[in-house]
Amino acid sequence: TYVVIDNCIACKYTDCVEVCPVDCFYEGENMLVIHPDECIDCGVCEPECPADAIRPDTEPDMDDWVEFNRKYSEKW
Ligand code: SF4
Repeated sequence: TYVVIDNCIACKYTDCVEVCPVDCFYEGENMLVIHPDECIDCGVCEPECPADAIRPDTEPDMDDWVEFNRKYSEKW
């Protein structure tokens, strides 16, 4: 899965939401999140983010971010 990290907080762009083929972005409290079970790992959103806030969970130390993204996306 891909995850949104805190670089997103100051970002006002929603280019990522528009390109996602499965509509798996959700609004957290002050940033967007990706539902980890809905993301199909296509990677299309990553280069669209001007804040470099979208990362693959294969990067180091992403487990907490995956759970954060899950928590806020399941509220909807
Ligand atoms: Fe959506 Fe693809 Fe980004 Fe996952 S990697 S959030 S499916 S655009």
